[in-house]
Amino acid sequence: MLKVRNLINGEFCTAKSKAELDVIDPATEQIIASVPDSDSQDADAALQSAEKAFEAWENISNEKRARFLIKIADLIEEKREYLAKLESLNTGKPYSLAFEKEIPRAAENFRFFGHAISSLQSESFDMGEVGLNYVLRQPLGPVVCISPWNLPLYLFTWKIAPALAAGCTVVAKPSEITPFTAFALAEICQQAGLPPGVLNIVHGTGPKLGEALVSHPLTRGISFTGGTETGKKIGAIASQKLLPVSLELGGKNPALVFNDCDLDKTVSHLIRASFTNSGQICLCSSRILVEEKIYEAFKEKFLNAAKQLKVGSPQSETTQMGPLITKAHRDKVSRAVEVADKAGAKILLDGREYFTKVGPGFFFGPTVFEGLSMEHPVNQEEIFGPVVSLMPFRNENEAIQLANATKYGLSATIWTADLSRAHRLARRIEVGIVWINSWLHRDLRTPFGGKKHSGIGREGGAEALRFFTEPKNVCVIY
Ligand code: NDP
Repeated sequence: MLKVRNLINGEFCTAKSKAELDVIDPATEQIIASVPDSDSQDADAALQSAEKAFEAWENISNEKRARFLIKIADLIEEKREYLAKLESLNTGKPYSLAFEKEIPRAAENFRFFGHAISSLQSESFDMGEVGLNYVLRQPLGPVVCISPWNLPLYLFTWKIAPALAAGCTVVAKPSEITPFTAFALAEICQQAGLPPGVLNIVHGTGPKLGEALVSHPLTRGISFTGGTETGKKIGAIASQKLLPVSLELGGKNPALVFNDCDLDKTVSHLIRASFTNSGQICLCSSRILVEEKIYEAFKEKFLNAAKQLKVGSPQSETTQMGPLITKAHRDKVSRAVEVADKAGAKILLDGREYFTKVGPGFFFGPTVFEGLSMEHPVNQEEIFGPVVSLMPFRNENEAIQLANATKYGLSATIWTADLSRAHRLARRIEVGIVWINSWLHRDLRTPFGGKKHSGIGREGGAEALRFFTEPKNVCVIY
């Protein structure tokens, strides 16, 4: 049985208290590993270590730092198969998804920020004969990076790589539910020769360890991805300490489907957008709004395609949807469908049938319903599972009004052959990312993040490097 350990100051260790938590395979419900149940003592050791390592890491050249990042990227690529197996076992996601998309992206995160830091620029302001101002961009110091369980290595590295590139030292906490690839990353960083204390990875629960990290006096910045409620708590602590904080939170993402779209292509993309990773991606479409005239045709095709999805063992090559992450999460998703059902929604496809169809494991099949008003809580709150609400609209204005009618504002997709309309609507949707006739294409240079309750701040490209650095103006008078 795998025994996950913390990495603090370049050494692998248990929690100081020796406490451990079980790690459960969501596809079999078996205990498959243990993970340290770290607390404030471990948070303190990790932040002390990051503080000690900071001065040296900050002061090496960008090129040298970049070399470490690129070496880590190479090692992730070398171990792609091993890491994909770990990720699939730990999360229940299909092996193919981890192998084809997520592990390569984790390597790309390190490679991208390795290259990006080499070309980071800062401004100067010429005062003519009087003098000159120039701007130094300096790393924040030791920062805390906290990430969730849905895309473990992909999201973990998306924070760690820019922080390290910018010259910050890092204390990172993955979700204790999915610690495997974070542990493997710790081994990779050791192999890459990353100096002790530059990256510390600690495992444990949010309330006990996460809060201790965020509240610690040595923490100089916080990058968090997770649920909106957790984000609010972290934001409150950060505001008391006046710390820079980046919050990437939940979504209730609309898809706007117009009469003139390529229907077959749209259905096929939206099946992927709704059910990839069993709907456990912050960017998944959970509200599909369809123009009246093609509503019935869309519904029929969408349901037929959803019924074809193969739900089953994450290791099987043909599986398209594995189990949900935990029993508690499956209960939450299931409750949302029950509430919709009781409120009079028409359940067109019911994923709860998979409780007994495939098992053991926390399986839940694709679920589609219609007939619930946009104000209903099930259409308002994030479910974070393979559950989709369908709704017709009459015209562009109504589509926009429905799309914007939640507290979230992460992403949206627009499906139409009329590109003028698509651009017009993209301006009016209150979200951080709009895809036109596509979903989840990411260019790592672009800003990533949400509006409203979907977050504060932007990740990606120069935005991430700016977040992890602070500008200092130096004024020289001749
Ligand atoms: P949570 O907010 O429960 O947890 C996220 C991380 O925060 C975990 O590591 C968790 O630890 C930790 N945590 C929990 N409570 C605290 C606390 N009080 N202080 C510090 N850290 C804490 O989210 P989930 O793990 O359930 O992830 C799903 C959510 O993440 C969804 O809402 C989803 O939309 C969102 N998400 C957003 C993305 C974005 O880019 N906008 C991308 C991916 C997901 P532990 O697991 O130990 O509790």
